[in-house]
Amino acid sequence: AAENVKNAYADAQRLQKALNAVVTFVDVEAQLEHLRDVDENAPLYGIPIVLKDNVSTKGIRTTASSRILDNYVPVYDATIVKKLREAGAICIAKASMDELGMGGTNLNAYTGKVNNPYDLERISGGSSGGSAVLVAAGVVPMAIGTDTGDSVRKPAAYCGVVGVKPTYGRISRYGIIPYASSLDHVGYFNTNVKDAAKTLEVLAGRDDLDMTSSSAHIPAFSEQLNSDLHGKRIAVLGNVQDAIQDTRIKEQFTAMIKKLESRGAIVETVYLKKELMEALLPTYYIISNAEAVANHSNLDGIRFGIREAGDNLEEIMIHSRTKGFSSAVRKRFVIGSYSLFVENQEKLLKKAHRVRRVIVDAYRELFASHDAVLAVAAPTTAPYPNESVDEQLSASYLIAENHMLLGNFSGFPSMSVPSGLIDGLPIAINVSAKAFDEQTMFNVAKAIE
Ligand code: GLN
Repeated sequence: AAENVKNAYADAQRLQKALNAVVTFVDVEAQLEHLRDVDENAPLYGIPIVLKDNVSTKGIRTTASSRILDNYVPVYDATIVKKLREAGAICIAKASMDELGMGGTNLNAYTGKVNNPYDLERISGGSSGGSAVLVAAGVVPMAIGTDTGDSVRKPAAYCGVVGVKPTYGRISRYGIIPYASSLDHVGYFNTNVKDAAKTLEVLAGRDDLDMTSSSAHIPAFSEQLNSDLHGKRIAVLGNVQDAIQDTRIKEQFTAMIKKLESRGAIVETVYLKKELMEALLPTYYIISNAEAVANHSNLDGIRFGIREAGDNLEEIMIHSRTKGFSSAVRKRFVIGSYSLFVENQEKLLKKAHRVRRVIVDAYRELFASHDAVLAVAAPTTAPYPNESVDEQLSASYLIAENHMLLGNFSGFPSMSVPSGLIDGLPIAINVSAKAFDEQTMFNVAKAIE
């Protein structure tokens, strides 16, 4: 086991120049000491893993890929870090991410672009890009990410790995540097669906340190994995399929549907109202940025973070925050603060909450008559940085690009599963299911795999 971990560590170091996926390498000798207390039959015994750099690790620098946290060393472990350690996993590195989770490209990390192993010039996707890349490159078989809008599922799609965002509350978020608390989920990457089912068994469960965590029963997902879909009703989200431009991606999706039908699934195309799909992104921006402003008000150079000089407290905070955050993050804080002004709350924030409710009600309605909802995970293969999608605005493009927000608004489980290559680059299918029905999600994903 120790040999295996050391090899992974050596691989990560060797590939760092090419991939730029690591923010901090961890002292593996020290980590391996924990293994002595772990039973050899523990589910992840001796498995090397990486953690997204917003997961607090006691005594190990945790930056969330932001300059302001460049010197931050947590004094406690996230609950999932304890769980992983008890299961025998060994953390070899903290992985790069878009600063504070804000972004979908991993171009917004303080340590620079993360490179896609399929083509180093292309983006990895984000915000959990470093984690996705280290699994895709074969360095580790498993990595932790977080998903507020699609930050596990998008990089998984671009890098050709399995990426899971389980139900809201399934995995404790205690010790995760937050982005937007009503949307944040812990998620993770694996190389295959069976491992993904097993990983959830390790990570899931009620934690008294996270009041949003759920005490729902945790099934033996991996043992019950079954790709026979007889009697299962599957909805294809027509709004997304219609917005895909690349006919090869569409044809490949159609072939995959045939495969699911041959396993017994009843598949039909359904639509959500166009207005609701178009409202997804603006609603997300208002809610996520408002929550982010509140969550990050402690990064002020006084309690946390790099401190810049100033003549008084206010100046120190202003200088520290101005220098500590990139302009992309500051822009989001401005949007968030604007919708939090008392005079704007009714027309922006509260309205966004009401729209979110209408969207979630419509989404839930789809599951009244279906067990799972499918769509293409991303409308294109991994783009080059200059084609990057963060700022593009055509309505149909935005629907195809942002539909996975449905999983964060509702909290329903949702995952990306690789479905093939186009021009040598991965594409993926997004599978979603009812709250706490990850089993159906895994079963459908298994049939796609
Ligand atoms: N791309 C989205 C954003 O920029 C989602 C990020 C995430 O899930 N953390 O906010």
